[in-house]
Amino acid sequence: MRRIVTVAAMLLGTASADVHDDVTSRVRFNETFTRTINTDVGDIDIAYNGVSFGSSDRQSYASRMYFSHVQGAADLIDDFATYRGITLQRCKDRDIRAFDVGPSVLEDERLHRLVNWNDPELAGGWGQQMTGLYTPSDDDSNRATIYTDMYHPERSRIITHEVAHFLYDEFCLERARIDPERFAHDFEDYYESHIMPSRRISY
Ligand SMILES: [Zn+2]
Repeated sequence: MRRIVTVAAMLLGTASADVHDDVTSRVRFNETFTRTINTDVGDIDIAYNGVSFGSSDRQSYASRMYFSHVQGAADLIDDFATYRGITLQRCKDRDIRAFDVGPSVLEDERLHRLVNWNDPELAGGWGQQMTGLYTPSDDDSNRATIYTDMYHPERSRIITHEVAHFLYDEFCLERARIDPERFAHDFEDYYESHIMPSRRISY
C-alpha cells in the first residue's frame, strides 16, 4: 500500500513539475539563449528556444523578429492601457521562457488541456489549431511560458497577443473587470495599427 502511494506521488510530482519540458523534449532547438530586454515597462528576461538556425555572430531572422515584437509590444502597452482608461503598475517580475516552434508542437493535447476553454472569447475553440499559448507559471512560479507558431503568416499578431497575456498578469489586472482574451485581442489590433504601418519595427 505504501509503495503505491509513493508511486502515485512521484507521478503527480512529474506531471506538475513541468508539462512544457515533456512537450518540448523531442523538439530540436537550434537556437537557445537568454537575453534581457529593457522596455518602457521594465526589464524582461527571455530564455529563447527556437527551431531556426542562428549563427555565432548573428541571430536567426525568426528570433530577431521575435525579440523586436516583444520589445515593441512592451513599449506600446502603456499607450494602449491609457487609451482604454487603465492605469498600469507592474506587480510581478517574472521571466519568459519562449518556445518558438512549428505548428505540430502546438497540436499537443497536453497543451490544449492547459487552456481555459470556458473563456467566452475562446468558446468553441477546443480542437482548433492553436497558433500560440501563454501559461502563467510552472512550479517555480517566477517564469511564464509562451509558445508561438514561427511559420504562421500572422506571426506579429501571435507574438503580441501572447505578450499581452504575459503583461496582463505582470500588471495584475482583474479578470472580473477586463477579460484577458479580450485584452489580448484588442492589444493585437492596437499594435498592428500603431506600430506596423510606421515600420518602426526592424529585424
Ligand atoms: Zn489568448
